[in-house]
Amino acid sequence: MTVLERFINYAKIHTTSDPKSDTFPSSMRQFDLANFLVKELKELGLEAEVDEHCYVYSKIPSNTDKEICPIGFIAHMDTSPDASGENVKPRIIENYDGNMIVLNKEENVVLSPDDFPSLKNYIGQTLVVTDGTTLLGADDKAGIAEIITAAEYLLSHPELEHGDIMIAFTPDEEIGQGAKYFDVKKFGATFAYTIDGGPRGELEYESFNANNASVSFYGRNVHPGSAKNQMINSIEMASQFHSLLPENEKPQYTSGYEGFYHLMSFKGNVDKTVLDYIIRDHDRDLFEQKKQTFIETANFIEKKYGKGSVEVNAKDSYYNMGEVIKEHMHLITRAKVAMEKNDVKAVIKPVRGGTDGSALSFMGLPCPNIFTGGHNYHGRHEYVCVESMEKAVKVIISIIDSFAKTKNNKN
Ligand SMILES: [Zn+2]
Repeated sequence: MTVLERFINYAKIHTTSDPKSDTFPSSMRQFDLANFLVKELKELGLEAEVDEHCYVYSKIPSNTDKEICPIGFIAHMDTSPDASGENVKPRIIENYDGNMIVLNKEENVVLSPDDFPSLKNYIGQTLVVTDGTTLLGADDKAGIAEIITAAEYLLSHPELEHGDIMIAFTPDEEIGQGAKYFDVKKFGATFAYTIDGGPRGELEYESFNANNASVSFYGRNVHPGSAKNQMINSIEMASQFHSLLPENEKPQYTSGYEGFYHLMSFKGNVDKTVLDYIIRDHDRDLFEQKKQTFIETANFIEKKYGKGSVEVNAKDSYYNMGEVIKEHMHLITRAKVAMEKNDVKAVIKPVRGGTDGSALSFMGLPCPNIFTGGHNYHGRHEYVCVESMEKAVKVIISIIDSFAKTKNNKN
């Protein structure tokens, strides 16, 4: 089976995760794909199982007596709740001509190089697009298809020596829970790669440090007619707080390695107002400074309005995996060389977010991220280039080969 055929099979299975759910996995439908994958892996002759949390584990056993460190490949099964993932109807565009693609005539949804100039990179190649009513789910079903296709290749080429190759497919990545019940010990790899990036060549090993902070302001409501020197309006306290945060350190004014404070919601009345923020920075010191600034600003408002009038609840959610991976830079070199070997130019850039790899790296499994070949994730304009998917398969095989061929393969 080709990587494209596999991808189409998976894309049709509805696996949207649900941020409002309190079960794990957040939607039971993710088991549909998990069970499908277990069956497919078994048909290839591999051991495979899905556990009670909907994690799929499998393994291609080493085919040599050589001592080679076990490595893993990971992709996620859920799709983003930001767009419908039900009844996905992938459409294949062969020999793309560089013009606008009409995704849905009735709803007037088009995929145009004017809006998405990267389309121009794929003239003459094959694209998979949506019917304009759902996302496509190349994020991350393309990654799953690439890993399994690489596995099939290894199994049919026993002359290629390799160590133990571990495979895992995770649920709930899109709602930030993908690593929650990941069993690093059972997985058994020393290093792994997530195949969950975007366009051809993407290679990522630095993510944000992340904190979710909510701050509550308590006012005092009095009839407005007799409010003089009595009323404290918590909405105004909250606006003062927000205006004191650095104006230029917001998502809309930052890029690359620049961090930010992002006000996500502002809910309140005179009595009580709650602001929810996310605080992000790649640099750990700047990250700590940002959290400090946030707390000092809250303290300043509290001093003004009295003890107990402001309350901060902040929690770190993940850290920059670069801190861990910098100790194992051979992982990046290997991926880069593997790409070059397959005529793919590596594009290394910091992730302005997190991946499962961010959490996994801190759980003891250093885990950079590699491209799948997809674009415009989480929406109706999502598409994937089939030639990029084929390149990803080759890059996976070349990485495996790199571990098999180098003596000093542990650092
Ligand atoms: Zn993803």
